[in-house]
Amino acid sequence: MLKITILFCLVLALTGYRFRLLTMSGAVLTLVVGSGVSVGFGWQGLAVLLLFFGSSSLLSKVGRSKKQVVDTIVEKDGARDGWQVLANGGVALFAALAYTMTQEASYQLLFLFVIAASNADTWASEIGPLSKRDPWSLKTFRRVPAGTSGAMSVIGTIGTIAGAAFIACTASLIFSLPIPMAVLITSIGVLGSLFDTIFGATWQRVYRCSICGELTEKRIHHQTPTSYVSGIRILGNDAVNFLTSGLAGGIGFIFVRFW
Ligand SMILES: [Zn+2]
Repeated sequence: MLKITILFCLVLALTGYRFRLLTMSGAVLTLVVGSGVSVGFGWQGLAVLLLFFGSSSLLSKVGRSKKQVVDTIVEKDGARDGWQVLANGGVALFAALAYTMTQEASYQLLFLFVIAASNADTWASEIGPLSKRDPWSLKTFRRVPAGTSGAMSVIGTIGTIAGAAFIACTASLIFSLPIPMAVLITSIGVLGSLFDTIFGATWQRVYRCSICGELTEKRIHHQTPTSYVSGIRILGNDAVNFLTSGLAGGIGFIFVRFW
């Protein structure tokens, strides 16, 4: 079975690369993370990863025209690179390896916590921009363009809860977990997305385009290098995703381990 799941990951990585959903480094790390998760959690773990990547990819196709504004703000659009795959899959890979060595159920939950947090955050950023009103920034307490890190909207918050609950419910069916676990996974997923919004508002780096004057996460805007405005310089979107899903997952892990 393991050979089949790893072969499946290889086909997935190559297909992603072929259709430009993944860059070369993104394809290599998809193979590494997918294989590691298959070793630790079998096809069930791989199925959870697929539900995350599949649902996010489908949602990214919804309301394309409304999201063109978002694409000018967010750091990365288009093909996922290796850093993006690690930002969402790094802790999952660690959990899979730790579970392989210890067989401790808490590592299985850690895996589900971080995927729920990543999924909550991704659904929020795909569903939020469909809102008629611009989101509200936690940094300036004003309305800001959709796609700005650290901003919240009602629709985006619904997306967050739905994204976390989607992983919690499907994973509970796949792994036969009791209902209280599904509630805990949903809560940790929402917590991770909340951390992401707070970190995004406070510490994530922001640049300004000298051509159009807009704030952006991109280093290049209108074919011109942007200038640094605020935030911690090494904290881009991937680092924030990694830290916040890891932090929420870690809190959930400590909770199930010691209470
Ligand atoms: Zn510009």
